[in-house]
Amino acid sequence: MTAPLSGRTAIVTGSNSGIGLGMARELARAGADVVLNSYTDRDEDHALAEEIAAETGTKARYIAADLSDGAAARGLVEQAGACDILVNNAGIQHVAGIEEFPTAKWDAILAINLSSAFHTAAVAVPTMRAAGWGRVINVASAHGLTASPYKSAYVAAKHGVVGLTKVIALETAEEPITANAICPGYVLTPLVESQIPDTMEKYGMDRETAVREVLLTRQPSKEFATTEQLGGTAVFLCSDHAAQITGTTISVDGGWTAL
Ligand code: NAD
Repeated sequence: MTAPLSGRTAIVTGSNSGIGLGMARELARAGADVVLNSYTDRDEDHALAEEIAAETGTKARYIAADLSDGAAARGLVEQAGACDILVNNAGIQHVAGIEEFPTAKWDAILAINLSSAFHTAAVAVPTMRAAGWGRVINVASAHGLTASPYKSAYVAAKHGVVGLTKVIALETAEEPITANAICPGYVLTPLVESQIPDTMEKYGMDRETAVREVLLTRQPSKEFATTEQLGGTAVFLCSDHAAQITGTTISVDGGWTAL
């Protein structure tokens, strides 16, 4: 049986760890050739692509590009040479009150979390149009739909990603191209895993209580989403079943945004 995404090329930004890596893996397992990316250019980055290629039998490559630079974001798509599936996933966070939020952090978060998606899509959409098929998948967040204090830049950028997604969907609505945003709640990535020991120590809690009562306080399921589940959601959005799903958000947040 042919894998469903066989013959498609997927670019996943920010995919040398966490959600992006999970998505690249699931897209490759569904048959897509994948382009991994981050701003570093280490042997271990390229090894991740080799490992995915060996596991799935697809072509997997790693292309370094610092997405805080718009020209580099455009260059990533150009260098990939093909882009049937664009997953804009790269993102950073900084937590501080509005009055002390560093301007450099604001600029970096807006550039990496929002503007890079504009630049990659600007190059990818014409490529998809020429190929006669395409999927734009933007990784927003529960913070693309709701807010939390001390996350002004992140919440603004993620709301912007949701808005950008709708515009791309409308501009491609009559074509076999869709654009959607996935909005994860808390996902167990290395970044989140590393916060657990500190939280346990700060509140004098065991791991299970710290996760349940502190980290997952806003996630009614009291379970983390997994990178595999997010990858599976991306694969679904690439399927024919999802061909009429466009310009919307899919929450993978254990009920966070239902509260
Ligand atoms: P992560 O830190 O593991 O992944 C972020 C990725 O972006 C990494 O590969 C990193 O190298 C890359 N990146 C950072 N700066 C970059 C730059 N200048 N150029 C290119 N790549 C760059 O974190 P994650 O949790 O996997 O987050 C991935 C995405 O999911 C982000 O957009 C994040 O906002 C979003 N998200 C995460 C969670 C969560 O709970 N982990 C929840 C909601 C949304």
